[in-house]
Amino acid sequence: MKDSICSLKSKVSSIKGIGPQKAAKLKKMEIVTIEDLLSRFPRDYEDRRCLKKIAELVDGEIALLRCRVDLIVKNNYRYGKQRTLRLLASDGSGTIEVLFFNAAYLESTIIKNGIYCFFGKISKNDGRIQIIHPDMTKWEDNRSTGIMPLYNLTLGISQNDMRKWIRSALDLLSCCSDYLPQDTLSRNCLCDIEYALTNIHFPKDLQRLKEAKYRLIFEELLVLQTGLLIMRSRLTESGNGIGFSEKISIDPFIHSLPYKLTKAQERVLEDIIKDMEALKVMNRLIQGDVGSGKTVLSAAAIYKAIRSGYQAVMMAPTELLAKQHFETMTEGFKAFDFKVGYLTSSISGIARRELLKSLENGEINLLIGTHALIQPTVCFKKLGLVITDEQHRFGVAQRLLLTKKGSNPDILIMTATPIPRTLAIILYGDLDISILNELPPGRKAIITKVMDQRLRTAAYAHLEEEIKKGRQAYIVAPLIEDSDQLESKSATALYDELKEKFQSMRLALLHGELKQQEKDAIMARFHSGEIDALISTVVIEVGINVPNATCMLIENAERFGLAQLHQLRGRVGRAEHQSTCFLITDSKTSLARQRTQIMQETNDGFIIAEKDLDLRGPGEFFGTKQHGIPELKIANLIKHIKILNSVKIEAQMILNLDPNLTREENAGFKEHIAKMFEKVSEFTL
Ligand code: ADP
Ligand code: MG
Repeated sequence: MKDSICSLKSKVSSIKGIGPQKAAKLKKMEIVTIEDLLSRFPRDYEDRRCLKKIAELVDGEIALLRCRVDLIVKNNYRYGKQRTLRLLASDGSGTIEVLFFNAAYLESTIIKNGIYCFFGKISKNDGRIQIIHPDMTKWEDNRSTGIMPLYNLTLGISQNDMRKWIRSALDLLSCCSDYLPQDTLSRNCLCDIEYALTNIHFPKDLQRLKEAKYRLIFEELLVLQTGLLIMRSRLTESGNGIGFSEKISIDPFIHSLPYKLTKAQERVLEDIIKDMEALKVMNRLIQGDVGSGKTVLSAAAIYKAIRSGYQAVMMAPTELLAKQHFETMTEGFKAFDFKVGYLTSSISGIARRELLKSLENGEINLLIGTHALIQPTVCFKKLGLVITDEQHRFGVAQRLLLTKKGSNPDILIMTATPIPRTLAIILYGDLDISILNELPPGRKAIITKVMDQRLRTAAYAHLEEEIKKGRQAYIVAPLIEDSDQLESKSATALYDELKEKFQSMRLALLHGELKQQEKDAIMARFHSGEIDALISTVVIEVGINVPNATCMLIENAERFGLAQLHQLRGRVGRAEHQSTCFLITDSKTSLARQRTQIMQETNDGFIIAEKDLDLRGPGEFFGTKQHGIPELKIANLIKHIKILNSVKIEAQMILNLDPNLTREENAGFKEHIAKMFEKVSEFTL
């Protein structure tokens, strides 16, 4: 038995047909061991269960044939510039002409009178039957028909290579033991691993494929969930949290605000304060659409923590947002004499050392920053409250590490993205959710207009008018590719063009490649109204709050996802002025049209999130990478949410019996968890 486990762990090169070159190519696909190869699941399948006779073929159909090659004609005529290889093949019912283009590599391998399997599209013309560039392999009785897997490939590796190698790998499985505990399999009616792997690659029928899929999805989610639970139990101390005193009232802070809280804000704040006063550790998620006023709620919680003698920390996903929070909080707490610190990776040297010192001796009451806050050198004297803003961009491990800097501090998470409860629990642990479903009074719905390039002048005219009225604007530069550099280039070009066009306007350019100080300086000038219009890349996407900005123009709107468009648009309409958002696009694709249509119809982030899910499919919406959880091969956190419920119960059951997975029967399972998490976190099992 040991031997066969060993061979799953051995290098792919031990499979016949995988030499050093192919092995190198597989390595690029992150396939190193036989086990890696087997866990490369098909992206789709081809139904080759039904063998056709040449005499029965219909024009245009996709068919599987078993034929003898009667004649090989090499390069006998040219099709344009392409060399052709022509075969005549027969199956007793008729003869078919097989054509290949540029297929010199085939010439030497085809044997006259050999029996082959052809799969491809049939064309029939005046009694002449052809199959053009079909998939062709040597006929093998038990391998040529069936449901065939289709894999994602890389250059130099064909479907037939993958199929052949995976079949050889499957042969090694026969006596290997399952790495899921036997009880887990029977409790959840899961098939064993040999059955699952055999049928995910070469299913005998659709029912078996379904069983195989279910087992593998369950397994993957179980590995994920168990890993997260272990990680959480390692990083969160057990025992009581902090019970902040009921005697410390937040009224002085609330009275210092220039506005009255909305009903929704009052309700959510009540939840927060109740949690803080209870001895239980607060773990609360605040979901509120863009502009609903989440920041002030975190400030109230911070006020309570500091007044109770604790420190607080607030983490934001971008430096711009962290800086903005720093400024808002500094201003808001001026009357209370709180000391607010700001830390990002661009703060270094003496400034950094001093800051860390006064954090450790308790002089700093509130520290605001980016993920730089997680570094081990950041130590608090008495951390009582951890807040993360736009949380969905942080990884599970990052958030937990921040929490570990205190002794069971309360946790508040703020997000504008609605998340289904089951998923939220996976991502954040057992948590409570408050929903902020009301915008501050006097806000006018943002008007959204979709325009093609020709109408851009109308959008510009509106922008100029707004600026004449004293308002400000954002112009979001086209998204070119997933590359910061290209984006900054396109923003720069747009900036140069607009500088020519709007000579009397005060414009500025903002992109991710600028130094942090430059970005901060530009944002400060935009905040104070010294800049009329900001030409920017998506760096302004989240959280930025300049209430005087009323006009937004998004170039190449078709390249943005719905959630992103909604976040971008949320930068305007943050005060009583009427705001407008122009989506400039020439795209006529139906996806682009549907998206811009939805943006025109609604300003409701919750509806938009739902539609986004419909249009993009669940995988992309909650991109797992964005959450910092491992990439999944077969499971999908939204689509398989029902399975997730059973998985949660099973994971808990396994850990109740064996909290650290030290038992022999859990060894293989533990190994799988370690492997899944090795890339995304520093945590080791
Ligand atoms: P988000 O929920 O998007 O983080 P912010 O907290 O940045 O929103 O708030 C958006 C704007 O609304 C800020 O300028 C803030 O001062 C203002 N605001 C928040 N609450 C109220 C309120 N109750 N009345 C009026 N303005 C408010
Ligand atoms: Mg915000």
